[in-house]
Amino acid sequence: MNLRSALLLCCLPLLSACTSTPPPSRDPVPEYDPAPAYPHWAGRPVTWSKLGDIEDWLEGSGPMQYPEFVATAQLELAEGRLALAQKEAKDLAAPVLASRLKTAESGFKNLLERTDLRATLKQRAERGLTQIDELRRGKPSSAAPRTASAASSASPTTSGLAIQPRTAWGAGKALPYRLTAASGWNRITIHHSAMDSKDIGVPTSGHVADTIKDIQTVHMRDRGWGDIAYHFLIDPTGRIWQGRSLDWQGAHAQGANNIANIGVCLLGDFNHERPDPRALEALERLVDRLCEGHHIARTRVYGHQHFAATECPGDALMAWVARYSAGATH
Ligand SMILES: [Zn+2]
Repeated sequence: MNLRSALLLCCLPLLSACTSTPPPSRDPVPEYDPAPAYPHWAGRPVTWSKLGDIEDWLEGSGPMQYPEFVATAQLELAEGRLALAQKEAKDLAAPVLASRLKTAESGFKNLLERTDLRATLKQRAERGLTQIDELRRGKPSSAAPRTASAASSASPTTSGLAIQPRTAWGAGKALPYRLTAASGWNRITIHHSAMDSKDIGVPTSGHVADTIKDIQTVHMRDRGWGDIAYHFLIDPTGRIWQGRSLDWQGAHAQGANNIANIGVCLLGDFNHERPDPRALEALERLVDRLCEGHHIARTRVYGHQHFAATECPGDALMAWVARYSAGATH
């Protein structure tokens, strides 16, 4: 399955109900969010093919068409080279590894010479150099790229909310080489898991943890993604669980729609049941906080169906999305 179709099926994993309805033949799904045009490589996981595309883009008409993406392109190229060198390190002869690290290093250094580099990109370039340094000194574990364990119960944008950490659901380790670093957030997309909440069982921590772990397994093992698709999950009792770190773009909308898009998934099937009021309260608190912390307008809170031919997040939850994005508080 190619990435595009995999992304289309993002909330299918455990479920038949969060299904993508067949694409309508006459009325294509309207693009509700006229996101800025992005270069074609944006939002794709790191592969050699992506890096080749970025190189072609930088040498071709890319910088003319999207001058604001040049620094990001150079950064993603250097980060990608580093990530792939780390991933393939054990199979590489020492001189080959050294030469790859040197190429990545000069990429980061060239960027840091720019006087107009945004602070977030600067931090990423500096982090890249630190990782290269550590890798050369034989400290590969601490040299690993940012990992989801660094996530965000400590994030300033969610502080004050009780968020179950990834360890609470036994999260598998994220695979950074399959992930794309995030560089800011400007929209939020709401999903449902499309599994009837009674299938979760009594929503004790244990059952919910198993459910979230299952979703991660499907997303990583079957879809080939670098982590669970969503940044946050909310269970029927209103507990919020940390999914993918906000360090990384999600994999919950479609293609470039994942850029700058925080994914939140409520456990349940809201075509066939109503969200528990406790879950809605938690959702509202979380989305309020994310909007405030990242300066996201309420009008940029969407349901998955804005971006893809899917019933997700179900009629009953979509009603909440419509009310919230229209400015109503409950
Ligand atoms: Zn969805």
